[in-house]
Parts: sequence; C-alpha cells; structure tokens
Amino acid sequence: MEGGVSKMVKAPRLFGTNGIRGVAGREIDSGLAFRVGSALGALFPKRRVLIGRDGRLSSSMLLEGVAAGLLAQGNDVEDRGLITTPALEFMVKHTSSSVGVIITASHNPPEYNGFKVVNSDGIEIPRSKEEKMEALIHRDRWRAGYQPGQRVIREGQIGSYFEKLESQVLARDGIENLKIVVDAGNGVGALTTPRLLRKLGAHVIGVNDIIDGEFPGRNSEPRPENLGALMKIVREEKADLGIAHDGDGDRAIFVDETGAIQPGDRTLALIEDELLMNHPGAKIVAPINTSMVVSEVAKKRKGKLILTKVGSIEVSRTVVRVGALLGGEENGGIFYAPHHPVRDGTIAAVLVVNAIIRNGRPLSKLLDRLPKFYMIKEKIPCKEGAKDRAIGALKSKLKGRISSSLDGIRVDLKERGWILVRASGTEPLLRFYAEAKTESQLQEILNEFRPLVLKAVK
Ligand code: MG
Repeated sequence: MEGGVSKMVKAPRLFGTNGIRGVAGREIDSGLAFRVGSALGALFPKRRVLIGRDGRLSSSMLLEGVAAGLLAQGNDVEDRGLITTPALEFMVKHTSSSVGVIITASHNPPEYNGFKVVNSDGIEIPRSKEEKMEALIHRDRWRAGYQPGQRVIREGQIGSYFEKLESQVLARDGIENLKIVVDAGNGVGALTTPRLLRKLGAHVIGVNDIIDGEFPGRNSEPRPENLGALMKIVREEKADLGIAHDGDGDRAIFVDETGAIQPGDRTLALIEDELLMNHPGAKIVAPINTSMVVSEVAKKRKGKLILTKVGSIEVSRTVVRVGALLGGEENGGIFYAPHHPVRDGTIAAVLVVNAIIRNGRPLSKLLDRLPKFYMIKEKIPCKEGAKDRAIGALKSKLKGRISSSLDGIRVDLKERGWILVRASGTEPLLRFYAEAKTESQLQEILNEFRPLVLKAVK
C-alpha cells in the first residue's frame, strides 16, 4: 500500500443505502473525490479502475478528483466518461480484474452528487468493504506513489453491453411495429434505452433526451407527479408505451398505451409472470415492502419468492446468493440475472417489450390480467434518535403477531393483507405500509394499526 498515514480519525458513516451522497461543493467536494479515489486505490492495489459519471454539472470535477487519487496510488484508470450506472457495472464485470466507481446522485436534485463503488463482480461493494473504504477516506494526508497509474479514455464504448441486451430480445420483427416514448429525464439513460430501441427498429419518440445536469425537463425521480408530459405524449402520439428513467438510468417506470402510469411492482409482476411461464420453479427476489401481486404471481406460476431488506444492494446480492432469475423493487428497479444482476432500466424496457410482443396485446391488457390489490404508503415523522425506541415499542405491542423482523416489523394478516413499519434509512421518519385485497379491508387494517404506530412514535 503506497498511501502514507499521518493520522487516523474516527470514521463517521459516509455510505448510505446507495453509496456516498450529499450536496456537491458542500459535503461532496473535489477533496473528498480525491480521497475516495485514493482509498479505492489503497483497497484495490494494482487493479484497473473503470470510472464514469452522470450528467450533473459537478460530475466532471468530481471525476477528475477520483482519477487523480487513483493514479497517485498507482492504479490504471479507464475513463468511461458519461455512462449509466448499469452500463458501467456491466463493463466492470466484463473487464478482467477491474473494479469501478461512478459519480452520480441517481434521482436526487441537481445540486446533489455522490459515488457508487463497484466490486469486481459488477455489483456495488458489500458493507464490509464500504467500512474499510470509510476508514481509508478519513486519512488526512496521502502521499503520491513513485509510479503513478496511466489513464485511457474509453467514453461511449459500450458495444458489448448493447450486444448482451440485444441477445435478450425475443423477436425483432414485432419491435418494428411499436411506437415507444422514452423520457430519459435529461439523464444518462438517453445514451442507452432510446438508442437500443431505435437500433432494434422501434419507432422511438425521445422526451427530455438531451443530457443536462440541471434537469430542466422534469424532476429526475420517475414518480407519477413528475411524468405528466410523458403520459400526455403517449396518449397524443397513440404510442404503445412510455418509459421513464431516473438520473443514472438504473430505474424504469412504464406508462401503458392509455397513458396510465403503472406502479413498479405491477411491472415487476408482469415480467415475473412472463418469465415463470418458461422457467417454472425459478427464484424471484424482492424487498419486504413489495406488493402481494408479486407473491400471488409466484404462487400461481410455481415460482419461489425470496424477500429481502429494502435496498438495491440487498436485492442484487440475494439474487446472486440464491441463484435467482429475477429481482425487482416497487420503485422501478428490475434485476435480470441472465443479463447482469443489478438494477438496470434498459433491461427492464427490453423485458416489457418482450411481454408485449410475445402476447401480441397492449400493455394495459397484460397488466389487467394481474390480480388487483390496494396499498397505502405513509410517512410518519420520527426524530433520528427516536426511531429505534418507536420500533421497539411497536414490537412489544405486537408481540406474537410479528411474521418478520427482517427490516422493521411486518405483520401478515392471512387472506386480508399485511402491514410493515420500518425506519427510513435516509430521512427522519418511519415508513408505514399496508396492503389488502379490497378497499374496505385496507380501511379496517388502517383503523387497527395506524393508531398503534402513531402511539409508538409518541
Ligand atoms: Mg438510480
């Protein structure tokens, strides 16, 4: 290890649920970027490191800092420039003995930025390595090596990623008849999904497809309130579907041909239904806050559903560990193992297009086949220091009824539905979920459990 240590300070947590995040120029500055690069070089000595960035205004500056730290540690750097998170992860997996880092704050507002560190298997590094990196980042002085690494520029060279995506497409002839509106939200998803679909022959209408770090088109998170323009264009253009990505292209939310937005877990259930028809007994992975539609489809198609804690790394690592075919999240994350077991908005687009072509039916009709449920998600304010106490109080109140403590408290109510209460990892609040088969059952469940949660917070 070439980095000189002059003083070790106690390491506060830097990594959140998705890498290191904060306001650029305040928490996330070029000095931190240099230390992230240096720490990464020290943790992975001699490894080639693929670096890439999203389109934020601060991303170039931070990329230079990371590169300088790595080169000073003697690591060779492959600069992939503007790239989506899943494409960089794929390239790391397929570049022997390399690791990676992407400069991105995903769907956060434009003033934010951050770092996601990618292990040699192309998946974000595990907790244990994050902790090692945190300790290294807090060194206050780094000494440059005598043999700095070399940097090569490989921006835009993602041919092998496109080839692998194309190999998952069922039939090209069906795609030529599809009209698809892709809303990249001015994010780097503009580099992949519209290009791939055009290459396959689809008629693609691009919305917010100029990469712009200020996100002038819409808020970067693909939530219903941000997708009004996409819904309207799908209707006006009589398109077959609409696809919306977040800022780094790892999530996709779909709009059907009627212009209606489909929740992420219904899209997951559709893909699950399609895949299980051809792969009976396959394993599916989803976080514990996922709709019953996913477990009902697994039951019907004889799949095996494995629930995890909330978080994309949890899903990715579990997909690999149990040998699952598919993973998914309600926020529009789809993990398809035969492609690469990370959240990838472009493979999500391929799998939904496959479902439309294979069935020869409109997207809304495919989704209508799935069972319907009623879900509510509430945010209950709770101070940072009070979360554990509130969850503890609720635990003793619900003693004997808890079906899982994997992430917060989940109570399954047999045929009626379920509730989940968990502490938010990023905000001062508890998240309260409830789902039922009918609206009146949902109301009953809320009447029973909401007062308990509110009392526990007090
Ligand atoms: Mg993202």
